[in-house]
Amino acid sequence: MKKAIYPGSFDPVTFGHLDMIVRSAKIVDELIVSVLRNSAKNALFSIEERVSMLEEMTKDIPNVTVRSFDGLLIDHARDMDANLIIRGLRAVTDFEYELQIAQTNRIVNPQVDTMFLTTSLEYAYLSSTIVKEVASYGGDISHFVPEHLIARIYAKYRE
Ligand code: ADP
Repeated sequence: MKKAIYPGSFDPVTFGHLDMIVRSAKIVDELIVSVLRNSAKNALFSIEERVSMLEEMTKDIPNVTVRSFDGLLIDHARDMDANLIIRGLRAVTDFEYELQIAQTNRIVNPQVDTMFLTTSLEYAYLSSTIVKEVASYGGDISHFVPEHLIARIYAKYRE
């Protein structure tokens, strides 16, 4: 059985992430979307908020569950009994870093492989950082995130 983890910060989740989730869920038997807790980034949304946004977005995909994790991804994969890590590649800029992490993880635990999906072209430009940048100026983010999240994102900048 292929049980995979799709890790990330998801701050906030975007259509690019959702596309990755939908495509990955068709490839594997079970997909765990895991929100990284110990991110160095200054987060806009709490872990609990990010988990609930992801749960809402994936509620109709039966083989997807949402978790959060601390510490090393490769240890989380072992704890979850997962044998695959899924990451997205948008551009060459993603590649070097991702390659290094994937190779390190294979040295630490050769039982766990990393699989890369290339971005769907319509989301190649899209990142959580772009969403936050545009939202912080009150710009239109309807092309980037699902409609029900738009008000929640703007609200963060009014707090
Ligand atoms: P991280 O902070 O770990 O990069 P993100 O939440 O930004 O986490 O992204 C999680 C994963 O989703 C990463 O593998 C990233 O490359 C991928 N990803 C993010 N946005 C897109 C997109 N628009 N298209 C394809 N993959 C994406």
